[in-house]
Amino acid sequence: MTSAPVIGVLAVQGDAREHLQALAACGARAEPVRRASELTRVQGLVLPGGESTTIDKLLRAFELAEPLRERISGGLPVYGSCAGMILLAQRLVDAHRGQQTLGGIDMLVQRNAFGRQVDSFEADLPVQGIAGTADSPGLMRAVFIRAPWVQEVGEQVQVLARVPCGARRGAIVAVRQGNALATAFHPEVTGDLRVHRYFVDLVRTVDRG
Ligand code: GLN
Repeated sequence: MTSAPVIGVLAVQGDAREHLQALAACGARAEPVRRASELTRVQGLVLPGGESTTIDKLLRAFELAEPLRERISGGLPVYGSCAGMILLAQRLVDAHRGQQTLGGIDMLVQRNAFGRQVDSFEADLPVQGIAGTADSPGLMRAVFIRAPWVQEVGEQVQVLARVPCGARRGAIVAVRQGNALATAFHPEVTGDLRVHRYFVDLVRTVDRG
């Protein structure tokens, strides 16, 4: 492989542009993905924030849902942020009628979990392996926008971050299972590249086999 892995950003709806810029800043060749032929080229894929119900409908309309499921279950590295986390869930709470997901992470995700009063909020989080370790705690500014959270995880799922304080203390907001990573928050809006760098490194590692 060349030193710059090709990483796609699903660009049917949502904030693809910020992810494309962040990935490029981390040394990846970042490309928008809107059709199945573009999916075949990528070595990793970001599922951005947006509206998961709309993304779900468009994926099916563009006949991307099945090819995506196949590549994800085949081990393609994927990173889902917010609506992208919802797409990676095996099961949903408060799903829209008929809403489908792609799966990839054995978790139960609640949409719009933080309630109407707190549509959006920010918090400083330790994120395991990404910002801070058990030995040296570091924090990451996390921006939540009508965010989901993870209500239950299977045994294979590693919890990377929880809300540290306040009424929602303990809620799971970042997870990883194998090559699939998900955050309830939006690192692409803060200029902090650590999550994208972590994902680009994951793609390189998987590609080296
Ligand atoms: N609430 C949105 C959904 O259900 C997700 C919000 C976001 O991605 N910022 O899709």
